[in-house]
Amino acid sequence: MEKHIQDLHFRFRMYGKNAREWTRKCALLLPEIVRERVWEKKGFDSVYMYARVLAGMGNNAVNDALRILHSIENMPALQKVVEAKGLNAVRPVVAIATSETELFWAGKAMEMSKHTLELYVKEQHDSRTGTENTIEFPEQKAITKKIIALDVDPEVASELEKLKGKDGDWNTLMKELLEMREKMLAQEKPEEKVTESRHIPAAIERYVIERARGTCELRTCTKKYAILHHIQRFALEKTHDPSRIIALCKPHERMVHLGLIEDEHIQPRDWSIAKEPNKNDPKYAIDQMVQKYRKPI
Ligand SMILES: [Zn+2]
Repeated sequence: MEKHIQDLHFRFRMYGKNAREWTRKCALLLPEIVRERVWEKKGFDSVYMYARVLAGMGNNAVNDALRILHSIENMPALQKVVEAKGLNAVRPVVAIATSETELFWAGKAMEMSKHTLELYVKEQHDSRTGTENTIEFPEQKAITKKIIALDVDPEVASELEKLKGKDGDWNTLMKELLEMREKMLAQEKPEEKVTESRHIPAAIERYVIERARGTCELRTCTKKYAILHHIQRFALEKTHDPSRIIALCKPHERMVHLGLIEDEHIQPRDWSIAKEPNKNDPKYAIDQMVQKYRKPI
C-alpha cells in the first residue's frame, strides 16, 4: 500500500515537472509564433486560442510570456534562464537588465530563488540611491531624517510625549531608549559555548531572538527571522557565540550563503550586499557545500 502511494506520488511529480518544462519551451516560441502569424496560417482566430488549444496556456500566461520575452529579446543568457527555470525566475530583473549586464543577472537568476533575487535587486538599488528623505532646514545644512508614524495606545503616546518634554526632540529620546535596550541586552548576554554539537543552546537562542525582536537583523530588513546564522560558520569554528549568531530572514540567509555580504564581521545592520562573492574566503567553500544539499527556497 505504502509503495503504491509512493509510486503514484512519484509519477505525478515527475509528469508535472516535465509538463512545466514543455510549457516553458512553448512560451519561448510565442514571440516568433506572433511575428510569423503562425496561428493565423494554421486557421486559429488568435494567438490566444492557438496557445490554449495546443498548449493549455491561458490568456494571462500568453500575455505575461510575450511581455517578459519582449523585454529580454536581445538577451540570450536570460532567455536560457527562462528555459531552465521559467519566466518567474527572470521577472525581478527584466526592467533593469541590459545587454551589457544580462550575463551578471542571468548568473544571479540561476542561483537565487525569485524571492531572493527580488530582494537582491532592491538592495542593489537602495545602496545606490539611498532611501532616506532629505529635509532642508533653512538655517542649517541639509540633515537626513526619516519620518515614521507610530501606531501606539494613547497612554503610551502621552508617556512618550511627556518623556520628550516641550523642548526636547524625538531623536534624543528614542536614541536614549535604544541605548538602554542595548545595555540591558549586554547584561543578559549568555556565555559563548564551545561544543561539537550544532544545536544552539536554548539560552543563546532566546537571547539572539530577543536582541533581534524576532526580526531579520540585516540592515533595514523588517521581515520575520527564519534562521539563526553563525557568521564564522559552525563547521570552521565549533562554537555558539551569541555575538556571532545572527537572526536572518530566508532570502538574506541565502544571500549570505551565496557569499554576497561584503563583511560579515561588522554589525548586520551595517552589512552591504556585494556584487560577486569573495571566492578566497574559506567560508565560501563551506557555503558552496551547503548549497549542494539544499533546494532553492
Ligand atoms: Zn532579511
